[in-house]
Amino acid sequence: MQKNIIKIEHPRSAHMVGDGFRVVQYVPGHGREMSNDTSPFLMLDYNAPWQLAPQSNHRPGVGFHPHRGFETVTIVYSGEVEHQDTAGNGGVIGADEVQWMTAGSGLLHNEFMTAEFSRMGGVQHAIQLWVNLPREHKMTLPRYQALTRDNIPEVAFDGGRVRVIAGQFWDTKWAAKTFSPVELYDIRFDSAGQLDIEIPEDYTTMLLVTEWEIIANNKKLENGNIAHFARSGSSVSISANTVAKVLIMAGSPLNEPIAHYGPFVMNTQTEIMQAFADLNAGKMGSLDV
Ligand code: MN
Repeated sequence: MQKNIIKIEHPRSAHMVGDGFRVVQYVPGHGREMSNDTSPFLMLDYNAPWQLAPQSNHRPGVGFHPHRGFETVTIVYSGEVEHQDTAGNGGVIGADEVQWMTAGSGLLHNEFMTAEFSRMGGVQHAIQLWVNLPREHKMTLPRYQALTRDNIPEVAFDGGRVRVIAGQFWDTKWAAKTFSPVELYDIRFDSAGQLDIEIPEDYTTMLLVTEWEIIANNKKLENGNIAHFARSGSSVSISANTVAKVLIMAGSPLNEPIAHYGPFVMNTQTEIMQAFADLNAGKMGSLDV
């Protein structure tokens, strides 16, 4: 049985993250609280394609800030993002690459466009998805996974390919290690095609069109549309008439209390206060290195 579409949205009110990322918040959405309705996904910021003018001696982005209790997943379609954190990790991800950062017990990081991309200018197109950590892993050590073009497995289907960022598609398993079941598929139609995607009953399932348009469950969805699917049912059917890109985000809901304040997502308000105390005590790292 197919999962029904329960809601289609096309949020449009953009805001800046730092001075580099012009995003529209799709999850939980402007003015809404993070909720278990989309668990394990807490937040989705979509940076639709826009043209960055060439910069002279300036790298747009966002400076050092903390996180604790979840993971940030940055998917770049176009552009180049550089990251540095106080756990000692860092790197550059470019087009068709993904950075999966586990904040866990806490760190400070920054996110900037690379010097080269800033100087040349170009099209910036990216997504940042926050994936919650189960209670028992919220204080895990920070971790950094750079999923480059070479280590994201691809599965060919008639009309395109599925890039398996996390989870399993047919017999092909994940690129990223996760702390709870998460399926993340970057689906590329190279021509007209159709694909049935099996997703377990009870999973949260969301679909974002990132290029051109597709048809899901007989409904046409265009670039920038997000569709939320019912938990019941075990498959999603998508098709395209020509070149298109779609991101499928699915996962087993954690169903644990969510306490959120700014850059921290824990289970209780006391843990949020502890996060601020630990930040102020330098336990998430120091910039004086
Ligand atoms: Mn961040």
